[in-house]
Amino acid sequence: MTIVTNLGFPRIGPRRELKHALERFWRGEDTGESLQATARGLRLKHWKLQRQAGAELLPSNDFSLYDQVLDTAFLFDAIPQRYRALADADPLAGYFAMARGHQAGGIDLRALEMTKWFDTNYHYLVPELQAGQGFALRGDKPVAEFLEARAAGFSTRPVLLGPVSFLLLSKTTDGSDRLALLDRLLPVYAQLLERLAAAGAEWVQIDEPTLVLDLDEAAQAAFAHAYAFLATAERPRLLLTTYFGALGENLALAAQLSVDGLHVDLVRAPEQLDAVLQHLPKGRVLSAGLINGRNVWRGNLDNALTLARYAQGHVGADQLWLAPSCSLLHVPVDLEQEKTLDAELASWLAFARQKLGELRVLADALEGKDGAEAALDAQRACLASRRASPRVHRTEVAQRLAALGARDSRRATAHAQRRIVQQAAFDLPVYPTTTIGSFPQTQQVRQARAQYKSGKLTEADYDAFIAVETERCVRFQEQIGLDVLVHGEYERNDMVEYFGEQLEGFAFTKLGWVQSYGSRCVKPPIIYGDVVRPAPMTVRWSQYAQSLTRRPMKGMLTGPVTMLQWSFVRDDQARSETCRQIALALRDEVLDLEEAGIGILQIDEPAIREGLPLRRGDWKAYLDWAVEAFGICSSGVRDATQIHTHMCYSEFNDIIDAVAAMDADVISIETSRSRMELLDAFVQFRYPNQIGPGVYDIHSPRVPSTGEMVELLRKARAVLAAEQLWVNPDCGLKTRGWEETGHALAQMVDAARILRADL
Ligand code: GLN
Ligand code: ZN
Repeated sequence: MTIVTNLGFPRIGPRRELKHALERFWRGEDTGESLQATARGLRLKHWKLQRQAGAELLPSNDFSLYDQVLDTAFLFDAIPQRYRALADADPLAGYFAMARGHQAGGIDLRALEMTKWFDTNYHYLVPELQAGQGFALRGDKPVAEFLEARAAGFSTRPVLLGPVSFLLLSKTTDGSDRLALLDRLLPVYAQLLERLAAAGAEWVQIDEPTLVLDLDEAAQAAFAHAYAFLATAERPRLLLTTYFGALGENLALAAQLSVDGLHVDLVRAPEQLDAVLQHLPKGRVLSAGLINGRNVWRGNLDNALTLARYAQGHVGADQLWLAPSCSLLHVPVDLEQEKTLDAELASWLAFARQKLGELRVLADALEGKDGAEAALDAQRACLASRRASPRVHRTEVAQRLAALGARDSRRATAHAQRRIVQQAAFDLPVYPTTTIGSFPQTQQVRQARAQYKSGKLTEADYDAFIAVETERCVRFQEQIGLDVLVHGEYERNDMVEYFGEQLEGFAFTKLGWVQSYGSRCVKPPIIYGDVVRPAPMTVRWSQYAQSLTRRPMKGMLTGPVTMLQWSFVRDDQARSETCRQIALALRDEVLDLEEAGIGILQIDEPAIREGLPLRRGDWKAYLDWAVEAFGICSSGVRDATQIHTHMCYSEFNDIIDAVAAMDADVISIETSRSRMELLDAFVQFRYPNQIGPGVYDIHSPRVPSTGEMVELLRKARAVLAAEQLWVNPDCGLKTRGWEETGHALAQMVDAARILRADL
């Protein structure tokens, strides 16, 4: 009998129940017990749901109140000193202090750093370790959740983050070698495995996703060492799980580790199946990741079945498990809940629950069960309707893209020459001041939008409201003396959604939430078809704002890579192709803005860096098409039109060539928290275009003094030419209040004036 298994289930709940419970608890409106009761309820509901959907072997300990890496750190007592007293007195408070900081009763603890989980949009908390530290079991979360499942009638496979990945995903605060801690950590893992065995767990899932990365010899040796050690423990059988890519040159290593089963991702890397089968020792379970855990499309079951049959022929029916490619954490819970998607589009999609159903169909088909063929037929019909749909394929898009030449993605003249023309056009002072786009989205702004969306406010009233807010914002900027103004982005809910809603080929769900970090969820748009811009998207508000002032008004767009990166994308064509389509739509928008008299345009690309593939060998191809896409958007304009871009959360060393090739006239970056260190890459590269290094951190309500900003600017001035520098905050101001924004910007303008006096 073929087993259907799952590696992890979304924990936020079909209606974000966990988010609401967490936030009630943080506001002090609910007790820890009641939070835990909600969590228990969700776990039970999710086990039932997975079982009903057709999975036999279910995960436990895949649930987390905040993050599974934080859970792991907490479980092994990798708790930095600053949180210890709190964690000892009140474990839940200590745990959340690590997650989100703690400010109360005279204690002020900053949170652990957060970073992206591989190439997903999920963020994990980065454990802080130091040389010589100890580890010990703290609490028994994996055992308790295993027993909780068993009491409810589910025999589960506890999920642990493996020891080597845990260390590789951590950082040391003293610069010491993370892997040097392995020998201290392993006995505690062994102890935990023994306890799980004693509790009756037959299998444990041990996640080692770092096996799909480029690993140096030390990391490879750590794997060999760790699993040789764990082989000697009194332990359940181990399923070693790898996902998000091919094992590549780590395959022989992974296959030889003494575990009892291996999970591989056959969606991202179907081509590795043959090699995996060759390397896998006899008698070992192969968990085949056949259904995409990273995207929302119904899978091609015929292809999956071919892989499954082939694998079964090698390992035998008892040794083959069918699974999603990775944990289903990265997709929404249940398509059934979506009542507003049209039926045709919905028939092309599968969320977590549906994906387990697809695996069930595969298993039934492998076993030749009645009904399997009918289910396969139904799936074939859905896929065929998508393939043939005129909503998906628009010949005019393909034709226009085919007609683009190399000259359509590069500006005709060099920046040095454009700079002269632009200087004449705008006559800006040295150290020109500007902002990144959004201004505070106050309660009133959000409320007006909600009322408009629910029909309580007419379109005319909503527009009038936005116009008033925009004018106020323009007057404010004039009054404090900013040089290049923005309209404030009041009309926008989200920088991707706003554009997606106006483009054809994008769809939006009502409840398609995916956890981003902790209680934060995002509802990524679904790009299902060729992208077409039926009408200008931003011209009206930009033109209106420009009409209010004689100063230059910057037009604001979200770049193609960022739109791609923060959406569920098509799986029927290359990402690069979808990106080019979005770029083409934006090119039209850029030209319309220029035509409407907007002389400065900013195309935000905060997600360029995070889109880097997991393996270095794939970087160049990605950066090439990312740069080309930016070129398609931005290169159609006259020399006098100034193109800006903005990138936050970026580290530039790996991508500086590409950033330079994007050839924006001005780039604004986030530098204040790193005290201008992020500029180094630009300096070493001798980056020739203009740069606005953010001079204050908008992620915090703190208002920096003029002196601090002057100091940061002087640091930048020491390494770059005065003519290259712009003065701006780190990022958009939409999450800030007016009060602090007003002070901070006025002081920023003062800082620029002081710098000018240096000249
Ligand atoms: N223009 C956007 C804003 O100001 C940029 C946001 C971002 O970089 N994340 O809000
Ligand atoms: Zn930003």
